Amino acid sequence: MRQETILITGGNGQIGSVLAKALRQEYGKENVINTDIRTNEDSAAGPFEILDACDRERMKELVMRYDVTQIYHLAAILSAKGEQMPQEAWNINMTSLLNVLELARKFKLKVFYPSSIAVFGLTTPNRMTPQITPKEPNTIYGISKVAGEYWCNYYHSKYQIDVRSVRYPGIIGYQSLPGGGTTDYAVEIYHAAIKEEPYSCFLNANARLPMMYMDDAIKATIQIMEAPIDQINIRTSYNISAMSFTPEEIAKSIQDQMPNFKVSYAPDYRQQIAATWVESIDDSHARADWGWRPQYNLSEMTKLMLEKLGAYYKNATI
Ligand code: NAD
Repeated sequence: MRQETILITGGNGQIGSVLAKALRQEYGKENVINTDIRTNEDSAAGPFEILDACDRERMKELVMRYDVTQIYHLAAILSAKGEQMPQEAWNINMTSLLNVLELARKFKLKVFYPSSIAVFGLTTPNRMTPQITPKEPNTIYGISKVAGEYWCNYYHSKYQIDVRSVRYPGIIGYQSLPGGGTTDYAVEIYHAAIKEEPYSCFLNANARLPMMYMDDAIKATIQIMEAPIDQINIRTSYNISAMSFTPEEIAKSIQDQMPNFKVSYAPDYRQQIAATWVESIDDSHARADWGWRPQYNLSEMTKLMLEKLGAYYKNATI
């Protein structure tokens, strides 16, 4: 077992709750300290501390108390929620990252920072978006992630902090619920299908966006963090990609297995966000540098989502 002590911020969210389990399997339960501003039913699964990632003193106290060697900094306000409270989203996203980077400098910590396809905007090439490309985002979330990427790069070049990052597309998993992003529909739609309810989608039928199955996202996260240092050539954030689809296409993939499933479309403000993002991503740098390969496509994901959620709703009350 590897000798690392990992602290996760925002670890009770959609990605963190799955990542914490995967890291605990690999590094040992006691060596992964999960933190968040709120508890959930998984908080008893291993060491857990309440941490507001904007509170640098408390973060420092935990880093020292547990002798932390790595931080996976997941705490953030996501795209859709950020548009409801832009100043607060900026403050939380930036203050928390600067806290992590400063503590990484003081305590020589390795850092994972999740960026997002939200860094792209209307001036970005829409298909097979290159690694290096214009980034003029229209959401406060996207602006905070672009700034975050450059802060990571700055701390790496100025202080040699080993900070690593990927630009996640929309992440879809059965294990957890999403927390206020523009791609949340692609999780909600499976829950509706399994509950035999019609689904009203908040994006247009033809809004094509890059997406990824949760297991691939977790694999990318751990893989980039464990890659030998000489394989990491980009210190802003790597493009990673798995699949791209529209609401109509995901609905069709569900209807292939559940022909009675009905979807209607009532686009809201989130469609305006989606309209500024790109359709598909060129991830050749991640593939060449540290061997990234996704495993799941839309039909494989749909099969697994329906299977796992079917079992979940049969055995539990949500
Ligand atoms: P989420 O909203 O589900 O979880 C975020 C967690 O952060 C929540 O549990 C919340 O309680 C916590 N949090 C909020 N403010 C906090 C604070 N001040 N201090 C500590 N914790 C705080 O988000 P997620 O989907 O799990 O995303 C994790 C990371 O991945 C985020 O940085 C997000 O920007 C990035 N990302 C996610 C997606 C996606 O599709 N889920 C896509 C691109 C990037």
